[in-house]
Amino acid sequence: VKALGRNDFQFFDPEMQSSAQERLEIEKGLHQALDNNEFELWFQPQLCSDDTIFAAEALIRWKHPQKGIILPGSFINIAEDSGQIVEIGNWVLKQALEQLASWKQRGLPKTFKKLAINISPVQFMQVNFVEDFLKLLNEVKLPGQMIELEITENMLLNNFEIASNKMKILKRRGISFAIDDFGTGYSSLKYLRHLPLDVLKIDRSFVTGLRSSSDQAAIVEVIIATADRLDLMIIAEGVETLNERSALMELGCHCFQGYLFSKPLPAEVFFSKLTASSAV
Ligand code: C2E
Ligand code: CA
Ligand code: CA
Ligand code: CA
Repeated sequence: VKALGRNDFQFFDPEMQSSAQERLEIEKGLHQALDNNEFELWFQPQLCSDDTIFAAEALIRWKHPQKGIILPGSFINIAEDSGQIVEIGNWVLKQALEQLASWKQRGLPKTFKKLAINISPVQFMQVNFVEDFLKLLNEVKLPGQMIELEITENMLLNNFEIASNKMKILKRRGISFAIDDFGTGYSSLKYLRHLPLDVLKIDRSFVTGLRSSSDQAAIVEVIIATADRLDLMIIAEGVETLNERSALMELGCHCFQGYLFSKPLPAEVFFSKLTASSAV
């Protein structure tokens, strides 16, 4: 028997062992992945109702030499538990900023405002996070205004004091903050209003199958009212159908990210699409 939490016990069975084995394999693989340059950033457009791409979210992919492309859902958790997320997250930041700087040099459409980058709580809580990030920003000579950091609500509330101090420092340099997966955690207005947030992302679970008249719509309505109270811009995640889009618009959400518009794309494909879609 293995003790998990306070009074939460679980028995080892062969299946669990194999999954522990798998985790170990991924952990080992992640080590080499950084050294062998197996990570890649892909980019998913964010659009408003006028159909211009105003931003993009950077999403990591692992090009495994044997297994092909591995999605972050299969390794980010493991990397967080093992601590490898710090190194991986630093790679993501550097790669994202360098990519953006190079696009900026080649010419970005005026309508394209920023790149959003996912930050793991473990990474954000590192003592040097702010210092290292600002150093990187200086090196690539990008204005902070072009960067948005996506963080989850639980992270913010579990480390409220430290998180909000870090956010305030970055905020002064123009960096904006999006609260990711909103509605899946336990955030309350009371706390959120003390944080320098800019964007609220409605989690995909509330968007899938949304019609303007349903219980689900009532939830989205509350989320949108919360965003309005906090003066936050709203982006809906995981928009796959025209019905979902029109329901969202009826409820007051006008910016979207999802397969309806585009899946995440490799850097060059994204850049072509971006520059083709609007005048530079
Ligand atoms: P997330 O931040 O919520 O990112 C959105 C996820 O939804 C992405 O999955 C994206 O491909 C997917 N998605 C977007 N539109 C649709 C849609 O219309 N339908 C469906 N079914 N899915 C859609 P992805 O790329 O597999 O990433 C999964 C999660 O892994 C992310 O969720 C994020 O939490 C984490 N992640 C990804 N990249 C990074 C990274 O660079 N650093 C960290 N710390 N976490 C990352
Ligand atoms: Ca995200
Ligand atoms: Ca999300
Ligand atoms: Ca999500």
